[in-house]
Amino acid sequence: MTRKRIPAKRRRWVRQRALGYCEYCLCPEFCATQLHSIEHIIPESQGGQSTEDNLALACQGCNGSKHNKTQALDPATGRRVPLFHPRRDNWHEHFAWSPDQLYLIGLTPTGRATIRELELNREGVIHLRRLLLLNHEHPPPHRSAS
Ligand SMILES: [Zn+2]
Repeated sequence: MTRKRIPAKRRRWVRQRALGYCEYCLCPEFCATQLHSIEHIIPESQGGQSTEDNLALACQGCNGSKHNKTQALDPATGRRVPLFHPRRDNWHEHFAWSPDQLYLIGLTPTGRATIRELELNREGVIHLRRLLLLNHEHPPPHRSAS
């Protein structure tokens, strides 16, 4: 298998398209201690290409948890379901914020499985959301309730 480097221009575009937010946990890159990664939604090991429709911006935590997975177990049913696909799936269909806006809630099997597998409500992310909320910078405008 050959891994081709993603051209800088395409990497920039993916970052801009995501507005600088991890496309899974929605942490902004401007608060991250390490820059977010350009991630293959379908891994290269499974035939995923380095095309714009297969790339997403992901923080180090989400990228590490997702690794080469495309499916996970829905904790409510134990069934194996596809993980959230940032290009094909509508975020608002799969996720909502808790009333205090600190936690993501899965509305579908895919939403629930993605939250669990990628640990989208991990402790560090909750701390960050709390701080951003105090600063009126959370939820991100493109992923708010209204
Ligand atoms: Zn993330």
